Amino acid sequence: MCLNVFTFIILIFLIALEKIALRNQRNLTTRKELLSSLNATDDWDLIIVGGGASGLGIAVDAITRGFKTLLLEQYDFAKGTSSKSTKLLHGGVRYLPQGNIKLVTEALEERGLLAQNARHLFKNQEFIIPNYNWWRGYYYAFGLKLYDLLSKKLSLGNSKRISKQKVTNFLPTLETEGLFSGVSYFDGQFDDARLALNLAQTAMDHGATVLNYMKVTQLMKNEAGKVCGVSAEDQESKTIYSIKGKVVVNATGIFTDRILKMRDPDHKKTVVPSQGTHLVLDASFLNSDKAILIPKTSDGRVLFVIPWHNKVIAGTTDTLIKKPKIEPVAQETEIEFILETINSHLTKKVGRKDVLSIFSGLRPLAKPKGDKVKTKEVSRSHKIIVSGQMVSIVGGKWTTYRKMAEDVVDKVIQAYEFPQSRSRTKEVALHGNIPANTQLPQNHLYVYGSEVKDYLTLESERPEYQEKLHPDYPYTTGQVIWAVRREMARTTEDFLARRIRLLFLDARAATEVSRKVSEIMAKELNKPDAWVEEQHHSFLKLAEKYILN
Ligand SMILES: Cc1cc2nc3c(=O)[nH]c(=O)nc-3n(C[C@H](O)[C@H](O)[C@H](O)COP(=O)(O)OP(=O)(O)OC[C@H]3O[C@@H](n4cnc5c(N)ncnc54)[C@H](O)[C@@H]3O)c2cc1C
Repeated sequence: MCLNVFTFIILIFLIALEKIALRNQRNLTTRKELLSSLNATDDWDLIIVGGGASGLGIAVDAITRGFKTLLLEQYDFAKGTSSKSTKLLHGGVRYLPQGNIKLVTEALEERGLLAQNARHLFKNQEFIIPNYNWWRGYYYAFGLKLYDLLSKKLSLGNSKRISKQKVTNFLPTLETEGLFSGVSYFDGQFDDARLALNLAQTAMDHGATVLNYMKVTQLMKNEAGKVCGVSAEDQESKTIYSIKGKVVVNATGIFTDRILKMRDPDHKKTVVPSQGTHLVLDASFLNSDKAILIPKTSDGRVLFVIPWHNKVIAGTTDTLIKKPKIEPVAQETEIEFILETINSHLTKKVGRKDVLSIFSGLRPLAKPKGDKVKTKEVSRSHKIIVSGQMVSIVGGKWTTYRKMAEDVVDKVIQAYEFPQSRSRTKEVALHGNIPANTQLPQNHLYVYGSEVKDYLTLESERPEYQEKLHPDYPYTTGQVIWAVRREMARTTEDFLARRIRLLFLDARAATEVSRKVSEIMAKELNKPDAWVEEQHHSFLKLAEKYILN
């Protein structure tokens, strides 16, 4: 009898353990299972449209408060602006002279939270501002002391004025003619598309349903004309789903107005897209682990030259654009501006042929009042719009995604009388986070964070999983398999652009492995030969935009 009770308790314990394990492995859930949960649930609390930083952050906030949460993304997570940022988690040094202390303080707090909740992706990056004018050294040193003070306990290190000698030691390729001194300060750096994926996984770990390749095509309205859900089309099967929910959250970035127009065809524009372009170069152009902030460019902005995944990113620009596009293309003037600015600051000159990849993104800036808009002066603060049963979020920054999400869900609770519940995301560790002082591999696998071991187990299963995809890069076949099984990768582009970042790091190399990746994915996803051809060719077409001739 005693033994039976004991066996029963052990059994219950094992079942509970398995349930927890299963829940933690929810991204093993197949797309089919996720789609069937759409039919099984008839009243979502929140239906979030858009799987960029904003939408994914809202999904994590909502599900961890206990709301039934669904997120739909028309392409892949972070296919839009959220994979094309400068990759900084920062307060925004350049907003200080504009007197935008509130935005800087808020962003610095969020930077500190990300340093704890996404340790595996957060990098403490030292920046050097070179001064070609004696008094600017003191001016920037003072400004950055204020930056340190605003970050309070969450400071990443003390900023200081440094000598010309130190600047040249730190930055061997910097132009030294006329150089007086430098200022060193610290900010955060990350991999934007990987953080987006980790947010999707975190939302799923907590029980949300999160789907890529689901396009919202219409808003459903009830007899009173109120929004009560969405129609969404599965971009793979072309099946249409009618999905009911209490509130629709519009987190579609530069496409916000399109969704708002579905509700009200007379809706007036709320977003101004502003394009920013980056060039990616070989690491030898910087030859340093420090980044450069060029504080005054000819367009009155700042320009960064930053080490990232063993390459260097130089950017960005701020160009007002009329029509939102998911894959914007760099303008000639932007390319010339970046090349000119970096060539006047570096001794190793950069030509067009040296550009390994070029990418542009569109900032979904909240449209200010009035018609004349200078984008560099438009506030980066976010704005929440409540209209009918729909809440839209515009503006903001990657760095502040968590606070933006908290504000949106607070607004939902207040406007639609949801049960009171406070945001928990300050304490929510994101998928892949590692305990403090844990060592991650000093190679490309660090992005897997707490899952590195699991990944290595998979890679050791078969010798071919350890094969490199490209002789010049460390990425392996095993990573393709992992991306399909564990990271919801559905296309060759998902893998090459956002699971690993090869399209952004070296667009030509990415085209060279595209067929191979398509073949591996086809096997894993059980797709026919025609799929391989279609994937390979559509990737080549996309990559043309990332190659500078
Ligand atoms: C050049 C540049 C540099 C930047 N650098 C930084 C930086 O260093 N640090 C920082 O903090 N911030 C930075 N930002 C800002 C930051 O990248 C953006 O604020 C953020 O990524 C916006 O995220 P989002 O989710 O609002 O938009 P998006 O990432 O564009 O997401 C919106 C999503 O909605 C989807 N969608 C649209 N319509 C539908 C539909 N009908 N159905 C389903 N889905 C739909 C889109 O496909 C898209 O994926 C930068 C921005 C740019 C452009």
